Amino acid sequence: MATTVSEFAPSEDRVESLSQQTSTETRLKDKFGRIITDLRVSVTDRCNYKCVYCRTGNEGAQYTELAIEEYLRMVRIFVSLGIEKIRLTGGEPLLRSGLTDMVRELARMRTAYQPDGIPTTSGHPLDIALTTNGHLLESLAEPLKEAGLNRITVSMDAVDPETFTAITRVPRSFERVRAGIRKATDVGLGPVKVNCVLLRGFNDHEIEQFAEFSRREGVIVRFIEFMPLEEDRSWRPETVVPMDELVARLNAYRPLVELPQHTASETARRFTFDDGLGEIGIIAPVSRPFCGHCSRVRLTSDGKIRTCLFSQTDHDLYGRMWRGGTDSELQSYVRKIVMGKEARHHIGEPGFEKPSRNMVHIGG
Ligand code: SAM
Repeated sequence: MATTVSEFAPSEDRVESLSQQTSTETRLKDKFGRIITDLRVSVTDRCNYKCVYCRTGNEGAQYTELAIEEYLRMVRIFVSLGIEKIRLTGGEPLLRSGLTDMVRELARMRTAYQPDGIPTTSGHPLDIALTTNGHLLESLAEPLKEAGLNRITVSMDAVDPETFTAITRVPRSFERVRAGIRKATDVGLGPVKVNCVLLRGFNDHEIEQFAEFSRREGVIVRFIEFMPLEEDRSWRPETVVPMDELVARLNAYRPLVELPQHTASETARRFTFDDGLGEIGIIAPVSRPFCGHCSRVRLTSDGKIRTCLFSQTDHDLYGRMWRGGTDSELQSYVRKIVMGKEARHHIGEPGFEKPSRNMVHIGG
């Protein structure tokens, strides 16, 4: 019989002892001095959408998924080194059985460092977030919130149902996602962030409608520049709608007012409109890279560390764990790998090499 999460889960004591092992070390950082506080964990490589800019439509999952308790052990290693935010992703994370149990276990973990970098045995709860396509959210929002989920981001690339179906290649998907967003708001997971990847000639005619959607539904709409991370290698610079053009379009719809950033490592520039209604974020990794402030690393569904979306290799943490690595050996390995995090991506530069995995197989 499969081990359940609670059988496997270490006690509070073990979480503390993992923290104490690092008491003489500084928190996780790379060779450029960037402090790494944010871990994205893909909990499955499967997805129930076939978004045209992400997947070919012919391929399914390519990488295995691990038991929930195995992700939890790896997350504990990261948390003991200074990770404070966990984002669950995929694939489509809501397809993953045991997800609610995983969130419940994450909610029991505590940060290992104080904000000033001093180790602590009485840290605060993690910030637990989820990125989903929202198709299964209506029924899962409440249990996830009860388990301890703090925040949710729903990917939604059109506000017109027909365009939405053309993108996702799943009929009647828009209504389901909108119902999921409303439910998430109702159960206290709001303001929900709604991420839209803009593709010129495909959904960029809906920019103003997205602004209206933000104002009407009380959600934060975040436009993301299209990156070369797709399965079918269709990315072209011309398809990207750059930040300056987007800002001009939104300003013409209604004057924008810039909002202060929450943190230096925040990826989005934030805006509201002149009447204070609605919030828009713009994430511009192509036209305005933010690598200098990057605080993220990723764990793939098969337990590999990726230090950048655009990495050419990944690093087998799960393999080391499976072969019997102790907590202290795994901590050292994570430190070593993170130290080698890439300085930046090279999108749009001569000689740019596509990464070794596509977005859906990394965990966005
Ligand atoms: N299935 C979940 C979802 O839809 O949010 C999580 C995985 S999905 C790969 C994570 C995010 O990556 C989505 O917001 C998606 O729009 C974004 N994404 C996928 N391919 C992208 C690309 N080439 N450029 C920018 N964002 C991309």
